[in-house]
Amino acid sequence: MNLDKKLKILISSAKYDVACSSIYLKNRNFLNLGYSSKCVPLLKVLFSNACIYDCAYCINRKSNNIPRATFSVNELVNITISFYKKNYTKGLFLSSAIIKNPDYTMEQMIKVVKKLRTKEKFNGYIHLKIIPGVDEKLIEEAGLYADRLSINVEFPTKKSLKFLAPDKEPESIQKPLIVSSKKYIETISEVKKYKHAKLFSPAGQTTQLIVGATPESDKKILSFADKLYKDYKLKRVYYSAYIAVNYDKKLPTTSESQIRENRLYQADFLIRLYNFRIEELFEKSERLDLKIDPKTKWAINHPEFFPIEINSASYDELIRVPGIGIKTAKLIIKARKLSSLNFDNLIKIGVLLKKAKYFITCNGKKYNNLERSTPLFSINFSKEEDKTECFSL
Ligand code: SF4
Repeated sequence: MNLDKKLKILISSAKYDVACSSIYLKNRNFLNLGYSSKCVPLLKVLFSNACIYDCAYCINRKSNNIPRATFSVNELVNITISFYKKNYTKGLFLSSAIIKNPDYTMEQMIKVVKKLRTKEKFNGYIHLKIIPGVDEKLIEEAGLYADRLSINVEFPTKKSLKFLAPDKEPESIQKPLIVSSKKYIETISEVKKYKHAKLFSPAGQTTQLIVGATPESDKKILSFADKLYKDYKLKRVYYSAYIAVNYDKKLPTTSESQIRENRLYQADFLIRLYNFRIEELFEKSERLDLKIDPKTKWAINHPEFFPIEINSASYDELIRVPGIGIKTAKLIIKARKLSSLNFDNLIKIGVLLKKAKYFITCNGKKYNNLERSTPLFSINFSKEEDKTECFSL
């Protein structure tokens, strides 16, 4: 098979992994290249799609009759370097189906990243997937060359994992998480003590959960994600709406809605960055509302908390207002030290007034243009948002 065809197959086979759609670079040599804090593309590819496992939800499972391909180490190294030099990509996201066994697969992937770093002096970003069930030593080696490691936990319960991925033992996923987070934490303290110590997997580790292939509620998924963040110091949990690529009686026949995936991201942000407790987002149901974002929903359900006076509210109160984010709350606090703020000032600061106006006052006054006759509870907030606004909390 020629290399172009192989590349096409192995890029296409990687597209269902969401654990890295793009990256924000703040470190390494990109600073020298002028790419500081910029969203950049990665070459997202599998080393092989010829899997020996048979996970029900996966396009690459062994029982599917699809074109199969496997790179050699040199082929993938050369492609990565060529794309990088032509400025097509700024890094590599490398995953793989399991060929022969987990250790053999991981060894091939490590050979690729090791050669890139040591022989080719590749300074681009590398995100490397850990294969479930690999030896501890291979995880330790992977973290020396990759910026970020990740392992897909896939489901929030062992029962669901065993049901849909019968070849994967829950322990084969948990152990790499433990090893890699322990190593990461160890090297953080070494870096503080010794000048030349190097961080293990400096951009930390992430995971992915599939949503909608199994019956777990949003509350269950977010509670599990919260535990993952705390137990393994994860940088991110990615939620992937189930896509029906296979026919299998174990699976739903239709794909999960993208809106549910967006709601989970919004709720995840509220819990991690906005000090919401999980219970606050699930007061009446274990599912998030698909018609309205969780922060606005909470605000509507808690009229006793509002209106918030912009010129005196605390930071914690400000970030509870729909349309005011972390950045804008900080700017409000800074700006009001100089003079009291009005609604025009808030627009300039970046507050989403179309949402916030229902929940705030400026110097005791409500927003002038707000039609008093429109009761808050009859406003259809869902019309005001679209998918691109999913992080506008
Ligand atoms: S091990 Fe990975 S590639 Fe193989 S079938 Fe399961 S999910 Fe797909």
